[in-house]
Amino acid sequence: MNAIEVTDLVFSYNKKQPILQKVNMQIPQGGVYGFLGPNGAGKTTTLKLILNLLKQRKKGTIKVLGNNIDASYPSYLNQIGSLIEEASVYHHLTAEENLKLWSNYHNKSKNRVEEVLEIIGLSHASKKKVHAFSTGMKQRLGIGIAILHDPEILILDEPTNGLDPIGIEDLRAVMKNFVAQGKTILLSSHILSEVEKMVDHIGIIKNGNIIFEGTIQELNNRSMQASSLIVVVDDNEKAKKHLDDHFPTEIVNGQLRVSITSKEDTNRIVRLIIDNDVSLHEVIQANDNLETLFMKLAK
Ligand code: ATP
Repeated sequence: MNAIEVTDLVFSYNKKQPILQKVNMQIPQGGVYGFLGPNGAGKTTTLKLILNLLKQRKKGTIKVLGNNIDASYPSYLNQIGSLIEEASVYHHLTAEENLKLWSNYHNKSKNRVEEVLEIIGLSHASKKKVHAFSTGMKQRLGIGIAILHDPEILILDEPTNGLDPIGIEDLRAVMKNFVAQGKTILLSSHILSEVEKMVDHIGIIKNGNIIFEGTIQELNNRSMQASSLIVVVDDNEKAKKHLDDHFPTEIVNGQLRVSITSKEDTNRIVRLIIDNDVSLHEVIQANDNLETLFMKLAK
């Protein structure tokens, strides 16, 4: 069973062109699913629909832990914790007081407040008023409120926004703790490199369509396939003439670039150059990194 399953989701805020065209997503149970796409692609809209926060009509179905959300609203929301946009916190209260308010609301014990403070790494600052918190600390408190009722799924919209590298590292630790219990995180971002190390699965949305869904490994394989070699020779034109019949070759800024589809191609390219009396000086692998591939897909 998937943690969340979105099938043929179509949505518009008004009578204009739909914001979500026909979104299909399968978010497996356990681990972190990165929901990526450029600004305005429809990430927040999709997350809000999963949380039943939008009043406009939608088409398609959303299942959370096997249950259709239209049939199981509002009880299915007990299985989800979320942080979308700003956390709902009182700035004149301390972190502990904020968490206590929410724990009363959820009927949780005082122990749970202490436990959560520990998980989010705010035990040392529990008596500090929130208005004196840094962005990263506020964000941790927001996640604390989201996980207080011990949900199975955590939904975070752009959680790395406004965080410095240390804040991102801390966020990763909190998320790791959550998924270590076999639970699921769905997080959105528009920057792959910021979440690359945190996620197991990826869905990429563009103009309201999912254009890639799979593991980070599958995305990596695609970037390997899209790689090229920079071949340094004494005569670019002559080398191009002999290579072009076999591999797409171009001269870019004085560099000879040969597109390859597998590692074995390197051997053939070197042979073709040498057999045709061109002097070979160097072969450099020029992989598309994941971010470049993501940009190409999302553009
Ligand atoms: P970002 O990374 O900028 O947050 P996103 O992928 O989360 O982008 P959404 O916020 O879901 O994108 O927005 C998708 C589209 O829906 C955008 O074109 C946006 O202008 C539009 N939109 C969002 N909220 C509303 C609204 N309340 N009414 C009308 N249109 C909206």
